[in-house]
Formats: sequence, structure tokens, C-alpha cells
Amino acid sequence: MGDKTAIAIDGPAGAGKSTIAKLIAKRKGYIYVDTGAMYRAMALYFIEQGIGADEQERISEAVPNVDVTITYENREQIVWLNGRNVNSLIRTEEVGKMASSSSANREVRSKLVELQQALARKESVVMDGRDIGTCVLPDADVKVYLTADSHVRAVRRCEELRAKGQECDLDRVEKDIVERDYQDMHRELSPLTQAKDAVLLDSSAMTIEQVVDAIIDLCGRGAQ
Ligand code: C5P
Repeated sequence: MGDKTAIAIDGPAGAGKSTIAKLIAKRKGYIYVDTGAMYRAMALYFIEQGIGADEQERISEAVPNVDVTITYENREQIVWLNGRNVNSLIRTEEVGKMASSSSANREVRSKLVELQQALARKESVVMDGRDIGTCVLPDADVKVYLTADSHVRAVRRCEELRAKGQECDLDRVEKDIVERDYQDMHRELSPLTQAKDAVLLDSSAMTIEQVVDAIIDLCGRGAQ
């Protein structure tokens, strides 16, 4: 990894990866890279172009027209889609579902993986996603596979939405989570799986602080 440190956090939807990764990045003074947001930005572009989730050929053709970049403002990651800040548009279930379909596309993946690897060469990072420990940063200093029971993840997601004043149907959210996990785990390219050298953390019965402390502890042993 050169002189930069990398912490890779992979796991299924709603396991709390971004919350945890952000806190660790803050504690360690590293950059937080949310790779899901990049797949979501691409997915938003495909939706806006009227491309369907199963139209893999149209998705491949559209990739050269999509420019996704990220910048940081007060440590917050901003995702730019063809020069437009799309942070507030990519957190919907619709975009998440499209991202799960379009992320199976080879052209989409190679473009974003390149961007992610370039970031990790420049900065010490906490990067979360589905294939960070297995594919993007196979030499990461610390690798964590963060998961939780699907019902627990659905309850957490609903609490988040309700806190924002949005309605939430728990059964539907759990069904979406299970479907998205299945799709992410069974695709041909870089499926979601625990890297051989990743530490498994099941956060079902853990608080955010306990998970953060467990990972910081691993950093003490693995990285400096
Ligand atoms: O993590 P998030 O829910 O924002 O990710 C959206 C989708 O992007 C995932 O369901 C997955 O299909 C895809 N993704 C991926 N590889 C990553 C990060 C996200 O395939 N490293």
C-alpha cells in the first residue's frame, strides 16, 4: 500500500458501514470513501437517461458519458455527476436498487474501481463497499466484513428514515434489503463476499461505539 494506510469495510446493505467508517476516519484522521455513493451516482445517470435496470448493453454504452468524481468539504464526501453535486439525490431506494443492478456491469465497475484505487494511492483511507477487501484494495492494512441480521438492519434503516420524518414500511424495507443482498452476493463480477483475511463483525447486538472500538483495536494490531 506504499506509505498510505487503508482500512477496508465490506458488508451487506444497511449493516452500518458508512456510519462506522466515518467515525473511524475521524478518529484516525483518514479520508472516508463511500464507494456505494459512486455506484449510486452512476445509477442516477442511467435512471435519468431512461435506461432500465436490465438493459446491460445500454448501460455499457452510456458509461463513457458518465463522469463521477468526489471531493471533500469539511470531511464530507461530495459526489459529482457530470459536474453536478448529487449528494441529495442518491439516497433513495429507487437509486439503491438501480445501483445494485448496474454495479454488475463490467464497464461500470472498472471505471469506479480505478477511481477508488487512485484515491487510496493518494490518501490514507477508510473505504466501504462490497468488494474493497477482495478486489479494490486486496492489500489493505485492515479488512472488516461488517454484517448484522437482516431484520435488525431493516429496523435500523426504518429508524433512520423516520428520524428524517419519512414514512417507512418495515416489511418492505427488509424485503428490499434481502433482495439487494442476494443480487450483490450472486453477481458474476466481484460479488459481495468476506475476504479470506477479513475479520467478521456481526453488529446485531453491538452498539456503534462497540463496533468502532473493535475496528480501532484491529488497526492497533494490523496497521500502525
Ligand atoms: O452501499 P450502498 O447501498 O450505497 O451501495 C449501493 C449499491 O452499489 C450496492 O447494492 C451494490 O450493488 C453497489 N456497490 C458495489 N460495490 C461497492 C459499493 C457498492 O457493487 N464497492
